[in-house]
Parts: sequence; structure tokens; C-alpha cells
Amino acid sequence: MSRQIGSTVLGYPRIGPRRELKKALEAHWAGKSSAEELEAVAADIRAGTRRDLAGLDSQPTGTFSYYDHVADVTALLDAVPPRFRPHDTREGTALQEYFAIARGTRSAPPMEMTKWFDTNYHYLVPEIGPDTTFRLAERTPVEHYTEAVADGVTNARPALVGPVSYLLLAKPADGAPESFEPLSRLDDVVAVYEQLLAELADVGAAWVQLDESAFVQDRSEAELDALRRAYERLGALRNRPSILVASAYGDPGPALDVLARTDVEGVALDLVTSPDLADRVAGVTGLRDKTLVAGVVDGRNVWRSDLPRALSRVASLLGSVGELAVSSSCSLLHVPYDVSVETALDPAVTARLAFAREKVAEIALLGRALTQEGSDELRRAVSDAATAGGASVRDEAVRARVAAVEPGDRTRADYQVRSKAQADRLGLPDLATTTIGSFPQTSDVRKARADHAAGRLGEADYTARMRGEIERVIELQENLGLDVLVHGEPERNDMVQYFADTLPGFATTSLGWVQSYGSRCVRPPILHGDVSRPEPITVDWATYAQSLTPKPVKGMLTGPVTILAWSFVRDDQPLGTTADQVALALRDEIADLEQAGIEIIQVDEAALRELLPPRRADWGAYLDWAVGAFRLATGGAADTTQIHTHLCYSEFGDVIDAIDGLDADVTTIEAARSRMEVLADLEAIGYSRGVGPGVYDIHSPRVPSREEIAALIAEARRAVPDDRLWINPDCGLKTRGYAEVEPTLQAMVEAAQEARR
Ligand code: GLN
Ligand code: ZN
Repeated sequence: MSRQIGSTVLGYPRIGPRRELKKALEAHWAGKSSAEELEAVAADIRAGTRRDLAGLDSQPTGTFSYYDHVADVTALLDAVPPRFRPHDTREGTALQEYFAIARGTRSAPPMEMTKWFDTNYHYLVPEIGPDTTFRLAERTPVEHYTEAVADGVTNARPALVGPVSYLLLAKPADGAPESFEPLSRLDDVVAVYEQLLAELADVGAAWVQLDESAFVQDRSEAELDALRRAYERLGALRNRPSILVASAYGDPGPALDVLARTDVEGVALDLVTSPDLADRVAGVTGLRDKTLVAGVVDGRNVWRSDLPRALSRVASLLGSVGELAVSSSCSLLHVPYDVSVETALDPAVTARLAFAREKVAEIALLGRALTQEGSDELRRAVSDAATAGGASVRDEAVRARVAAVEPGDRTRADYQVRSKAQADRLGLPDLATTTIGSFPQTSDVRKARADHAAGRLGEADYTARMRGEIERVIELQENLGLDVLVHGEPERNDMVQYFADTLPGFATTSLGWVQSYGSRCVRPPILHGDVSRPEPITVDWATYAQSLTPKPVKGMLTGPVTILAWSFVRDDQPLGTTADQVALALRDEIADLEQAGIEIIQVDEAALRELLPPRRADWGAYLDWAVGAFRLATGGAADTTQIHTHLCYSEFGDVIDAIDGLDADVTTIEAARSRMEVLADLEAIGYSRGVGPGVYDIHSPRVPSREEIAALIAEARRAVPDDRLWINPDCGLKTRGYAEVEPTLQAMVEAAQEARR
């Protein structure tokens, strides 16, 4: 058995090339298929993965997950919160319990979900308390390892989240004392990992991969010391596989030096996000006798690698480390399976793309080239790529326009001036009521859209159907007595894809699905060239809605940062430049909406916080371009046009200055679940424009009472004066049903009217 890693990936997509897992999970949850049927689909997906990875020198196992790889460790440690075990008896199967923590039960809400680093993947946040018990579960990574061995794989490497990152990504369990930190349970968790490593050694695993990516975030001395302690202990085990500690999504900083001083045999680094890391490696003496797994192929974007550059980056490390291996920068979980199935894509774009399968081929080739035997092959591949792959589509007019942007283009008149002009024009009451944009997407609406996309429903019929829906939604809002209306977004499948579908510079795939969480997948558009907006996108729908009512109807756009965050974005120019191109496209749309008589325009930036880099030191540079792009999009609006923005979260302490910096006239935010806490933060920095803290938690099907909403409004009024306070739900209503939405909006409007009196 080889002890060399050679070429590898840190992880692989697991939903199946045709979303087989999604379908199998949903059938199982709906009671339409048995656990055995689900397990058979999962086994097929794993077998497919092993075939896809066969060309690599070392392949990870255990990267398959029924729902989430962090939840897998929760199950592995048997650290399931007590609410899922009501009588402390083990009823049901391990799989049932696993789905219970992910999806909740009638009596127990699911574990919280949160973003995995700065990606659009969500993990289930472990809940760890002083009393959490840890023990090795019956089903462990041994299972998938031996399955791979039985399938003839001789170089399998079990991979899982490491003990320190697991605890750093956890939150204190309900009822834990104020000062409790999950990391204080490290010794108990490491004890279970010790047992696991011994079992893996017993079945013959040469390597184990432990992902410690939490160290690409800023970490305290105590946390670094925890890392040292954990790996000194695991390193000291006599019966164990070689340990590869992987860090992805950024620069592990001082954690690299800590690991280098332990007895672990290998370290994997993300040299795509942090190319400078390569220069530091030579100075870390402890790496001289370790394996360095160089992540030079981008695991989270879809572009073909510049192979000669990747090779020279790896080769520059020769001599500084013991063994050298080539890898993806992170798990390939974030990219779709296969470019070759995308037959409808423009071949000039396809030629530039590499999804998971193509990336594996690149890595295998780099691995061979590194050992010389593949260098002719590499030369051929490089010259093939050069002839096949075009460059990004250039649009000189767009480039000239971005180059000519001046600071003034990102600046509107003073807010005092604007707010006076808007108040005169709009004449809205204090505590104005509105919604965030979408109304429930009924199956009728979705079917009409699907039929239209498939060509079964002609343009005129489709327009008539959507207009009918808009009429219904406007009438409902008028009856409810809302002050600022929306058209309801029935024509939008998704807030980013809708725009990507019409803007030059974007392509959309047919099977390019990636997992967002559990069975939920998204198909990010590919932003491959210069972006422009040759014609209006939303103006017809907006003006139709406005023609139906004397009340203002908000124009509804998705902001530049969110469009970038939820797309695969070209990497041949700074993100800020690409964001400015998108911003100018939106700026044109705003101008056209104004021209058509729309008085209020909302520019959603749901993902502003999501793209924050893992390290604080990088936040400033990010927020500069992100805020700058939003301001470029909105900076041309007249003083009399009220610009709203909507942000999809309540913990925005980290971006609070940026939110102020957006300079929107009104900001709506999530607040119902945190009971308006966010308002105090905003007021503390002197935010002085309109704000609409959500008073209705749309994440739950519960219908809140009028009293409950009134209490939240009262809370909000203590922090914000009535003339700047807006009353609205937490987010769009598209995932809810009318049966909940109508009474809740009714209660919301009544509570606002009552507060006004
Ligand atoms: N306007 C969008 C909607 O209401 C906003 C959604 C979001 O922020 N996620 O659906
Ligand atoms: Zn939202």
C-alpha cells in the first residue's frame, strides 16, 4: 500500500450527476421509498465517485453524506442534542435520527444551519454543552473505507472534519452557562477520534484526512494551542494511519507553524485562495519531512486551470517539503459534476470550463507531470487548451464605461435633501407598511413558468398569466391596506438566475447543480464575459403593476454583490471590476424604471455578508468594492426616487458600517427572531435613514398574532423614531402559502395602524 498521496482531491460532489440523492432523499422523506432503497442510491453514488476518482493516486472516502458532513461528525460522536431523544431511549434507526437533527421533528426544531465559510453551502451547527456525551457511533468512516477497498480501491483515504474545527464551528447548547465554550470539550472529542484512528489503522487505512479549515479564520492563542494539543495527542498514537490535516478556503496563518511542529505526516493547503502561502512554506522548517498537498486547482470555481502556472506553483515547493502532492484547493463539493453534458452551452464558454470530473483529470495530469512521466502529455494538453479555449467575451463599450466611473457616480445628494424630496413626492404615513417582494409562488405560477420555459406556453399566454397573478397580488395588498406595494415576482424562478438569463456575459447550465444544503441544490449562472444590459428587464412587469393602483409599487432588482455571490464568476479580473459592470447594468435598469414612473426601487443585497472573507484583515478591501458596486448601481437615482435595500440576516454586526455605507434610503432586515436587537446596533453607529426590521418571521409556517407583532413594533419604536421606521416581514413570501400570509399581513397592517393612533 502506497504511503504517498501523489494526486488527490479533498472531496467530491455527492448529490449524484443527475441529482439522484436529492430525488432519493425526497422520496424517502415523503414515505415513498424505504431506507434500503435510499441506501442503494447512495451506494451507487459512492461507486460512481470511486470511478470518477480512479485516476488519482489517493482518493478520499467518506466525502459522501446523506445531508451534511458536519452533521456526519455529530452522528459519529453521537453528540445528538437531547431534544431528539425525548425519553433517552434509542428509538428508530440511526438514519432516522440523523434526518431528525437535519429536518426537525414534530416536537423538536432542527439544528440551526449556517454558511460554510464564505461559500453558499450550509452546514448544521453542532450544539455542544458541558453535559454533551461523546462516544464513537456504530457507523463510522470505516464503513465507506472498507466499501472502497472491497471495490478494489487500494489508495482510499478516509476524510472528515477534524476535532478542533468541529468544536470551533459548534455553538453552545441551550442551557449552557454564559461563559461556556464548545472548545472546552476538546479532550473528550479527541478521545473519540483516537478510537476512530485506531479502528482505521486496524482495517489498513494508510492515511486519514482531517479538515481543520476553521483555522483560515482569525483564531486566538488559546484556539491555536487547542490545535497543537489535539494533534500532539493524535500524533502520539501508536496505532494510527498517517494524518493529513487539510485547510481550505484561505490561509491557515499561524496554524501552519503549529501543525508543522506536531507529528502529523501531511498538510493540505489552499494555494488558489492564498497563492502567497507557497512562498511561506519554504520558511517552515517543520514541513521538511512532511507531505505537502498543494491545492492548486480551484475547487470552488468552474474555470479550467492554467496548467503550466499550476505546475510551476507546485514545482516551486520541491525541496522545501518531504513529499509533494497535487490537489484541489478545497472539496469539489462546490462545483457541478461534468461539463461534457452541457451540450446547450456556447462551445466558446464550454472550452473554458472544468467541473469536478474535468478538474480530477487536470489534477491527475499535474501529478504525472510533476514526476516527469506526464510532461509530454501536459504540453499537449496545454496547447490543446490554448487552441480550444477562447478568452472572455470583451465588450469595449462596457470596459470604457467602467474605466470612466468617477467617485461622483457613486454618490447621491445628501440624505436630508433626498428624504425631504421623497416625503413630498410619496406622502407616506409614519410606520409605513410594505413587503419584501415575492408573494407565495403557487403551483400554478410555477407551472406556467415551467411551461413557458419549455415552449409549451406561448409568449402572449404567459404574459397574460403573469399579469393575472400581478393583478391578484396588487388587489390583495390594496385590500390589506399596505402602503407600499410590490408586484410579487411571479415571473422569477430565482432572484439571480432571473437576471442572469437576460444579461449578456452570463451563461446558464442545464445540469450544473451544486448542493446548497441537504437535498437543496442550486444551479449558479456562469458569469463569463463582460456584462451589459441591452434592454430593460423588469420595466414591463413593474409598470403593469403600477398601472393597477394609485399606491407606489416598488421596482425590484437584485444587487451586484448578490448576483456575484450566487454565480460562478470569471477570475481573470478583480471581482470589483466585474461587480461594477453588473452595477452599471442595474443602473441602466433603475434609470428606465424611473423613466417609467416607478418611485421606489428596491435593490436586494441578500448576500452582502456571505462574501466576507474569512480573515478580518481582508474585510476592508472586500467591503470597499462591494459597497462601491451597490452605490454605483443606485448612485444615478434622482433625489425623489426612494432606494430600498433588503438584507437577509440579523447578525450583521460585522457589516454594520457597510450597511450604513450603502446609503440606501430604506434598509429592510431580518429581526423578528432576534427581537429587534439589530436596531440598537444601527442606532449606535448613528444610522439615520429609514429602516424596516422584519416583524414577521417568514421562516416558519406559524401565524403570529396581532399582539405578538404589536409587541415587536413597540420594541422597534423604542429604538427608531416613527418617521424612519418601516413595518414589514423578515423576507420575501415566496416559500409561504396564502393561508398563512394573508392573516399575518392583515395582523401586521392592523398592528401598524394601531401604533400610529
Ligand atoms: N425580493 C426578494 C423576495 O422577496 C428578496 C429575497 C431575498 O432577499 N432572499 O423574494
Ligand atoms: Zn431576505
